[in-house]
Amino acid sequence: MTEPTPDYSKGAAYMNGVYVPISEARIPVGDWGFVHSDVTYDVVHVTDGGFFRLEDHLDRFHKSLAGYRLDPGVTREEMRHILGRVVALSGLKDAFVAMISTRGVPKVYGSRNPLDCANTFIAYAVPWVDVIKPDVQERGAHLLVASVPRISPKSLDPTLKNYMWRDFTRGMFEALDKGFDTAILLDQDGFLTEGSGFNVFIVKDDKVITPDRGALEGVTRLSVLDLCPELGLQPVIGPITFDDLMDADEVFTTTTAGGVMPCARVNDRIYGNDRPGPISAKLKETYWRKHKEGWHMTPVNYADAEN
Ligand code: PLP
Repeated sequence: MTEPTPDYSKGAAYMNGVYVPISEARIPVGDWGFVHSDVTYDVVHVTDGGFFRLEDHLDRFHKSLAGYRLDPGVTREEMRHILGRVVALSGLKDAFVAMISTRGVPKVYGSRNPLDCANTFIAYAVPWVDVIKPDVQERGAHLLVASVPRISPKSLDPTLKNYMWRDFTRGMFEALDKGFDTAILLDQDGFLTEGSGFNVFIVKDDKVITPDRGALEGVTRLSVLDLCPELGLQPVIGPITFDDLMDADEVFTTTTAGGVMPCARVNDRIYGNDRPGPISAKLKETYWRKHKEGWHMTPVNYADAEN
């Protein structure tokens, strides 16, 4: 009897040397990635069969690995190959593609020594998901400035990607309880940082400003900063106070899983005509048009699924 062919149609994963359907991808309960959130990751997207800014995501992933002293023992070239292969196996043309390294399971359960763990490399591709639903993006998201502050960067460097989302999740519950779509967090000194899985921008006159602290250096954020000059806009990375936020002309958020996502409200402040502002809409349109034109694209080799 022949083995049934694995069904990768809902997504494909690579777990320490083995390719499996996404439904079979799991980590052991003793992995510090699970018990201590001792894990880093990155997410790149694929649209129309091409990775967007793959090398920027690999650069950031390597920065996070070094920052957390994780070494999954996989070369950058091998990572490129594995990421391509999970997409090829799934056959997805639009996908959300994650690369992850967990601390792993210690040689002796209960050990408190991180050097006792063999670090892992995991990757998976699943169908495209939007962090903020498309219909909400269309009308402009409603954001709440949560009462919980972002965890201090002295304790957790926000430029190293991590799953320590307690502050974001608390903020999300507060936002949902109050009828908002999602939350954004200020730091302990009252400066704007980011939201759960996205960067934040404000627009004031011709300036497009994003926080200089407390936030991940998002690849979509970088893309927006890159696009500004050709649209006659001035990109700024600087401090943003709550008052700056209230006084802005427009607000939008950015992420790999959604692109440029315009907002219409923050707390009780309504921007413009309660719809995405014109500059946010222009940036969104330009971002996706440039995708179609192949901007920073690396084609996926779908033939790799056969090997
Ligand atoms: N901030 C946080 C906390 C994130 O997790 C993410 C993405 O997942 C972002 C910002 C946006 O970064 P990028 O544009 O690279 O997806």
